[in-house]
Amino acid sequence: HAQRLDGLGTTIFAEMSALAVRTGAVNLGQGFPDTDGPGSVLEAAIAAIRAGANQYPPGRGIPALRQAIVDHQKRFYGLEYDPDTQVLVTTGATEAIAAALLAYVEPGDEVIALEPYYDSYAACIAMAGGRRVPVTLRAPDFRLDLDELRAAVTPRTKVLLINSPHNPTGTVLTDEELRGVSALAVEHDLVVITDEVYEHLIYDGGQHRPLTAYEGMADRTVSIGSAGKTFSVTGWKIGWVTGTPEVVTAVNTSKQFLTYVSGAPFQPAVAGALALGNDYFDGLRADLQHRRDLLCDGLESLGFGVHRPQGTYFVTTDIRPLGHTDGVEFCRMLPEKTGVVAIPHQVFYDNIDAGRPLVRWAFCKKREVLEEALNRLTKL
Ligand code: PMP
Ligand code: GLN
Repeated sequence: HAQRLDGLGTTIFAEMSALAVRTGAVNLGQGFPDTDGPGSVLEAAIAAIRAGANQYPPGRGIPALRQAIVDHQKRFYGLEYDPDTQVLVTTGATEAIAAALLAYVEPGDEVIALEPYYDSYAACIAMAGGRRVPVTLRAPDFRLDLDELRAAVTPRTKVLLINSPHNPTGTVLTDEELRGVSALAVEHDLVVITDEVYEHLIYDGGQHRPLTAYEGMADRTVSIGSAGKTFSVTGWKIGWVTGTPEVVTAVNTSKQFLTYVSGAPFQPAVAGALALGNDYFDGLRADLQHRRDLLCDGLESLGFGVHRPQGTYFVTTDIRPLGHTDGVEFCRMLPEKTGVVAIPHQVFYDNIDAGRPLVRWAFCKKREVLEEALNRLTKL
């Protein structure tokens, strides 16, 4: 294979989900809900298939979905977009990330990413020929150190790749951190790709702040969203990009040759989902917050060091209080010994020492599944 694939191997999610299937373990590894999204949303996709939405839809997405994305941005954040020129529907946020990096990164350009980083970032930066420069969010609180971010910028820096709420740490960047990121991007004239797929999964009354809303950001930001997390339909792979017409055209130039268009029958269904009432979004958050607390409390009482997340559906634990030091070894041992699967942080780092003792658990699972996992973990 080509050099750009060196070291990419198999994604940790596929490896660990396969291990869960093979060992019959409870899978708290890969982040996907074990309960599908709202019935009305699922029915809308079925109805769309019956109504004939089965051929290539428009490249930028069907008008109803582009309008629904615009309305959602206005309703939750007061942001204004033109649905014809400032929205692009993608095949999940994953494609949006790939298309955005391919659109902006020249071979040799540096891309600064928050570490631990979602695994497709590293792969897509490599496939675009870029160089990854990590800025580490460190335990115990996983805050962004703005001085470290500043120090990572060089004359070759082209893109800042930001993710908040952040997978896997659960960090939600504060207003001050986002202001710092924006100031730096403006000062060095950087493109900012911001992955906000967990925008609605924020707990304890916290709020999501879109990076594009900060001063000087609107015309340099590629904002990325997804239906997968918010509507519990991770297999539908409907995501989107919003930005200036120039940004959307640039990302679409690569998107059109990656997948051309994205899942026709899911688009009207996601349009309907985005228009659900506030009670849906509040209910999702409250429900996940309960499950977060169930899993965090349980892991705490088992002796793990628990970093309760502000957002996402992942909790990070430190395994050292249990006498373990290496998350990869721990996660390979875990299914055999206890019948539970988790994800080692280490695979999301360049500075692997920072992630070595950390393990991620997903709590987007039924209460009884979380309880069963906790019960099994007493065998540790
Ligand atoms: N970004 C982050 C941070 C994620 O956790 C995920 C979930 N896999 C994605 C992007 C991909 O989203 P999608 O399933 O819409 O491609
Ligand atoms: N975002 C999910 C996770 O982090 C799923 C990732 C994937 O399967 N690519 O677990």
